[in-house]
Amino acid sequence: MSVRDYIEKVLSQTAKNSPGQKEFYQATEEVLHSLKPLLERDDRYDKYNILERIVVPERIIIFRVNWVDDSGKIQTNIGYRVQFNSAIGPYKGGLRFHPSVNLGIIKFLGFEQIFKNSLTGLNIGGGKGGSNFDPKGKSENEVMRFCQAFMIELSRHIGERRDVPAGDIGVGGRELGYMFGQYKKLTGKFEGILTGKGVNWGGSLGRKEATGFGSVYFAEHALNKYGDTLKGKTCAVSGSGNVAIYTIQKLYDMDALPVTCSDSDGTIYHKEGIDLELLKGIKEIGRKRLSEYIKLRPDAKYIPASKYPKDGHACWHVKCDCAFPSATQNELTLIDAKALAKNGCKLVNEGANMPTTPDAYKYLKEHKVIFGPAKAANAGGVATSQLEMSQNASMANWSFAEVDAKLHKIMKNIFDTSYETAKEYGCDGDLLAGANIAGFKKVADSMIDQGSV
Ligand code: GLU
Repeated sequence: MSVRDYIEKVLSQTAKNSPGQKEFYQATEEVLHSLKPLLERDDRYDKYNILERIVVPERIIIFRVNWVDDSGKIQTNIGYRVQFNSAIGPYKGGLRFHPSVNLGIIKFLGFEQIFKNSLTGLNIGGGKGGSNFDPKGKSENEVMRFCQAFMIELSRHIGERRDVPAGDIGVGGRELGYMFGQYKKLTGKFEGILTGKGVNWGGSLGRKEATGFGSVYFAEHALNKYGDTLKGKTCAVSGSGNVAIYTIQKLYDMDALPVTCSDSDGTIYHKEGIDLELLKGIKEIGRKRLSEYIKLRPDAKYIPASKYPKDGHACWHVKCDCAFPSATQNELTLIDAKALAKNGCKLVNEGANMPTTPDAYKYLKEHKVIFGPAKAANAGGVATSQLEMSQNASMANWSFAEVDAKLHKIMKNIFDTSYETAKEYGCDGDLLAGANIAGFKKVADSMIDQGSV
């Protein structure tokens, strides 16, 4: 069977076995297609059925989460943990609390996480979890009760050498704190079973900043390769969560000018540069909507999401040199890619997971826009989570500067690996293919070594 036929066979099996899981299918399609040059050189992956095995999670846990709201009514949500692949280390990956969460979303995120984690060069397997719980509009106590109820079930499946969840959309320091407290109460053990913890109780300095900082470090390495730099560049950033905020902060450190940020209600376009302290105040402290921003900075522009054409996102239609999609999946579509290329954008660097649609990616590639794929560009978060695990295991506390220096080194390594692997497999400059091949190879070779488990 030709390599092309082998890939298509596994993809059609995947579509058949996971009906309706379109994001998962999108993620598998992207990875498997990009592996073609590797599979053409090495027939062991076919011989050992690696593709068939790698697209199936080792274990899926789905559970009911009952919690009591402020009015005394019992509410029900669905909880998930997908333990996707443990060939190179304990399952590792975040928890997402968002109404859009379903099994297909968690499987796509878990699948991506396998290769991202491998690419960091550290020994962490791939997993992901979450719930369709919507933290928006919930009181502090409701969030706490939900997190505690979620952990009652999750606690049975995690462990510092087994599965170590962290945050993702809707899960930050506050939620991790409630979950950690509940785990301790249930088990009587103070263990590093989560990362992204508060620095007073086992967290690592620099973890909060790591995904955003790492994304900017990656972008800088990518531009440097083409004789350019972030200095003086106008940058469009989407999102206003952890990734977006620390991307904006690091862009300022690099003398670049971030001019946009967004939430699901709308986009801020601030030509003079996003007011970082105001943004942190609204989002990190106030937990409010971005529409608050223009009340204090009427010189900025607010574009409500409802005012924007279908399938387009306002962030990508402002004039910019670099784009940092840092909100969520499929937020940069073909019409956005066309607008970016037309406006002279040189680089798209994915801070979120799978933010670029396949047709948008194809268009950017054809138009020679440098592309930092999520698995590589946003791997700084999970890499720093592993640094947190490492500190927990040795009961050490590293300084911010120490963690940041390690993060910087890891991001350079990820860039070099992606770049060199692409070159080695005849797809020069294709960082997406390079990242996928390098991430896959380490996991697949380990699966072969470990036999039919
Ligand atoms: N949710 C983050 C990601 O997508 C971080 C995961 C972690 O730190 O385990 O990579």
